[in-house]
Order: sequence, then C-alpha cells, then structure tokens
Amino acid sequence: MTLPPRVALGTMHGKEVAIAPPLAALGITLHLAPIDTDRFGSFAGDVPRAGSMVEAARAKARAAAEATGLALGLASEGAYGPHPHVPFLPLGQELLLWLNIATGQEIIEVMTDDRPCYDQQFISSATEAEAVLSRMGFPATGVIVQTAPGLRPIAKGITDRAVFEAALEQALTTEGRALVQTDMRAHLNPRRMTVISDLAGRLALRLATPCPVCAAPGFGRLRAVPGLPCRDCGIETTLIAAEIHGFTACGHETALPRAGEADPAHCPYCNP
Ligand SMILES: [Zn+2]
Ligand SMILES: [Zn+2]
Repeated sequence: MTLPPRVALGTMHGKEVAIAPPLAALGITLHLAPIDTDRFGSFAGDVPRAGSMVEAARAKARAAAEATGLALGLASEGAYGPHPHVPFLPLGQELLLWLNIATGQEIIEVMTDDRPCYDQQFISSATEAEAVLSRMGFPATGVIVQTAPGLRPIAKGITDRAVFEAALEQALTTEGRALVQTDMRAHLNPRRMTVISDLAGRLALRLATPCPVCAAPGFGRLRAVPGLPCRDCGIETTLIAAEIHGFTACGHETALPRAGEADPAHCPYCNP
C-alpha cells in the first residue's frame, strides 16, 4: 500500500490547522488551494449551498485539485441547525471528502456534534448582550450581528468588543433589536475546529487501512443499511442492521451485520 505524498485542500477558513496534523503523521502534505470556497455556499446565508453536503464537498475538492494541479483533493463541509428530534437543541454535522480525480475514488467521513457552538438570539439592549456573548464563547467564537435572519449582516466574524458594540448600536438604532449569532466559519468557531480535527483523525485511520482486494489505501464504512428486526414481531425496523464497508475505486464491499434485535419501541408494527 502506498499513500500519496500530497493532497490539495480548498479552504479560506484555516481548516488546515485541524486537518494537516493527522495526515502529516501518515507522510501526506496538505497543499492549500487558492479557491473562493464561499462561492459553494456560505454560513452567513448570503450564498445558498447548491446541492447536498456531499455534492458541495465534492465540488470543492475537485476545484482544489484543479487549482493546484494535484491528483487528489480534500474538502470539508459542515451543516448546523435545529436538532431533528430534540426541541430547542442544535445539531451539527461535519463531513470530510477525499477525492481522487483520476480514479473517481472517494472517501467520505462524517461526524455528528450534538453540542455544537451554534446559537442565535434577538436582543434589544446592550445589557442583554453580556449573557449571550458569554454563552457563545465570545471572543474565541466570532459572532455575527444583523437585524433579521436572511438579511445582509451589519458585521460578521466579530471577535473585537468595540466592533461588536458599534454593530449592536447600529442594529438597535435602526431596528430596535439585533440578532446575534455564532459565526460558523471554522477559524471563528473553536468547537467546530475540534470536531473537524477529530474527523481528520478518523480519515487518517481510514487511509491507513488497505482494501483487502486491491490493497489501495482508504478501505472503510460506505453506508449503513436499515432493517434490524424487531425483537417481538420480527418486522424490519429503521434501525441499522449492517454497515457496508468498501472501497469506491475497485468496488469491493463487505457487509458487517449488527448483532441483536431492535427494541419494539422502534417497531412500526408494535409501536406505530
Ligand atoms: Zn479494492
Ligand atoms: Zn414489532
């Protein structure tokens, strides 16, 4: 198994700090690609993301490889929003995609963060700001000030108290309230950087795993298959029944079945 010496990373947000070390341990050097990653979608909402997280990451990885002339591109993509099952809690998802332009081989690693630094609140006075800023971890975490969701921010990437106060003043003067949000760009969100770092460690582990058939590096989890049977009635539930491990270049796949049966609480028949 031989690992490639170089991979291109498209980022404007300092993600190399989190991604480079675990790859360097394998002898792989990151080359920063000078591409405007915000054109693939931005967190401030001024550029909507085209397509899914995977599609956006794939486009970024390809652009990074092309900009540097390297055969391999790497891109990171994050999505943050309300937790789908728990009211009032946020949920974050981070994805790292490794793309070999020549072979089409992709390695995708994903990680969920159930305690992300993702937060927003309307405030109507400067005194209300203190509790909100401290909850968000300001100034290590950068913040955005705007007057309403979806509107162009008055200021973003704020890590300076005087800049924050000026932006707040402007919002309060014009609209009587300000929407303060965490800036989700990686270099302004230390929590996000930690998760990306863990994800890069997972990618490195995977790169160190050769395919049992073709011996190329990067064998690992491709997807999960639902259908774990219910303990009471045997019907297939939505719980994961097997993980499919494989390699996208040679097409080799192995199913790793999950032992056990599903609790009837998850059964569409026993607990509709
Ligand atoms: Zn293979
Ligand atoms: Zn059942």
